[in-house]
Amino acid sequence: MTSTSASGALLSKLIHRQEVAERTVAFHFEKPPGWTFKAGQAIDLTLLESSETDEEGNTRALSIASAPHEEYLMVATRMRDTAFKRVLSAAATGTRVKIDGPFGNLILHNNAARPAVILAGGIGITPFRSMAFRAAREKLPHRIFLFYSNRRPEDAAFLEELQALEKQNPNYRFAPTMTGMTKSNRAWSGETGWINKQMLSRHLKDVQSPIYYIAGPPAMVKGLHTMLNESGIDDDDIRTEEFGGY
Ligand SMILES: Cc1cc2nc3c(=O)[nH]c(=O)nc-3n(C[C@H](O)[C@H](O)[C@H](O)COP(=O)(O)OP(=O)(O)OC[C@H]3O[C@@H](n4cnc5c(N)ncnc54)[C@H](O)[C@@H]3O)c2cc1C
Repeated sequence: MTSTSASGALLSKLIHRQEVAERTVAFHFEKPPGWTFKAGQAIDLTLLESSETDEEGNTRALSIASAPHEEYLMVATRMRDTAFKRVLSAAATGTRVKIDGPFGNLILHNNAARPAVILAGGIGITPFRSMAFRAAREKLPHRIFLFYSNRRPEDAAFLEELQALEKQNPNYRFAPTMTGMTKSNRAWSGETGWINKQMLSRHLKDVQSPIYYIAGPPAMVKGLHTMLNESGIDDDDIRTEEFGGY
């Protein structure tokens, strides 16, 4: 059962975990029916049964990767060797957590006449998985172009389901790109190399005045933000989320 703490935080439990890419795990938590959020928002997840901790503490900000209509609350993270992630990775089904939030403004704009161009780096895909599945479910009229950069297909969380979503939503286009295929054991016929001006213009030929969204490791977010500015895109039309710690 989920419940609410005195501070208004949600007390929840782990119900399922699933490896969604190499060293990358999605965690599903119970979500009470009345608990709502906007696709693209994040939570503060606190581990309440920690066997160890470090100077960063037992809480991390994590984007909600599930869409609002999905019955569970899903987050996904790269399993690095920090106390928080060691405890999370060993957590049994039923482990109790505290969830504060939702928070954040990385949500799809209202004006459907303006397309959304999304640039996701690695685990920065999480808020956009939520957004893309919401758009398909609600049959939103927005045109959505999702560029998704990883080193290898093995590293790309949710790759197949994000590709399959094109069949459900005619307004959605998915452009995954791999930057390190020499180290991959899988076949790949899609884009390769970093997201850059040339790649964007190949895919966005008839796209007028989009809003851009970027999430991922800070260096990637900064680099892509600069690239957009150099292409003449105003900061008013760029929304970003930096995933610190990577
Ligand atoms: C709004 C938001 C959404 C996020 N969503 C996700 C997500 O969906 N999946 C995911 O894996 N990660 C996400 N992150 C990042 C996440 O909070 C962790 O920082 C990250 O997973 C690294 O955790 P860690 O335990 O491996 O390392 P940590 O022990 O947390 O950090 C390693 C190093 O990074 C530094 N650091 C930590 N946080 C920050 C920060 N915010 N800014 C700058 N430096 C920092 C620490 O000081 C430390 O030196 C998000 C962050 C934010 C702010």
